[in-house]
Amino acid sequence: MRPPVVDRKTLWCALPRATQAHYSRSVTQGSLRLLVAVHDVTPAHARRLDVLYRLLDELGVRRYALLLVPDWHGAWPLGQYPQFTAQLRERAAMGVEIVLHGLRHDEVGLPRSLAHRMRTFGRTDHEGEFASLQPAEARVRIDQGLATLRASGLDAIGFVPPAWLGGPGLERTVRDAGLAFTEDTRGVVTLAAGRRIGAPATCWSTRRAWRAAGSVLVAGLRLRLERARPLVRVALHPPDVESPAVLSSCRRTLGALLERRTVTDYRELLLEAG
Ligand SMILES: [Zn+2]
Repeated sequence: MRPPVVDRKTLWCALPRATQAHYSRSVTQGSLRLLVAVHDVTPAHARRLDVLYRLLDELGVRRYALLLVPDWHGAWPLGQYPQFTAQLRERAAMGVEIVLHGLRHDEVGLPRSLAHRMRTFGRTDHEGEFASLQPAEARVRIDQGLATLRASGLDAIGFVPPAWLGGPGLERTVRDAGLAFTEDTRGVVTLAAGRRIGAPATCWSTRRAWRAAGSVLVAGLRLRLERARPLVRVALHPPDVESPAVLSSCRRTLGALLERRTVTDYRELLLEAG
């Protein structure tokens, strides 16, 4: 069963009142940091993305990454949505980071071997576009994606495969394509220095009601378990806004993290890694 669909106005009213002044003034402790990313940025999700942007604004989060999909499911080529890309350029000009996130984000047209199915089982619903791609195929899609972004005036600094599932040799392929980092669920890999920065990613699932409820519980648990982690990541996805429980959990989790952590971004991590 899918979580109930709630219209944008209802969703926004359900969010607690703005508290950005509180968070921006909060005392941060030591070098505990938080990295925030919005996944699946595509005109197909424009309405849901607006809700996420407003949530980040409300919390006072100004530094975050947008993970762009140049042609979502082969039906939403960025170049055909000039208003959407103009907004992305505005955000990028304000310091928001642009990251390539697959080419089409699905597995249409790709062979799905038993090994592939086993590897992606439970991790994604046919969205592991790069999970089993050989390096040459991955490189073609990355180059095509970067060209699409550039044609819209957007320069990506890194590549994150859909569902964080990369095929063999992905790090090298991403580096050869001229990008500075990639990542998986466990951490960020800086490609010039070849450093892995351990940083677990918290994200929510809305594919099934029980998954949504489970991800809300896990997010709360991780807040406690990862209190001392130098760096944690939060990954927001557009469908998160369709479940009031998940959206509240996103807000609660970010709010709690911002009480103790400063917000960082990929550029800062890359600079530090050398
Ligand atoms: Zn994605």
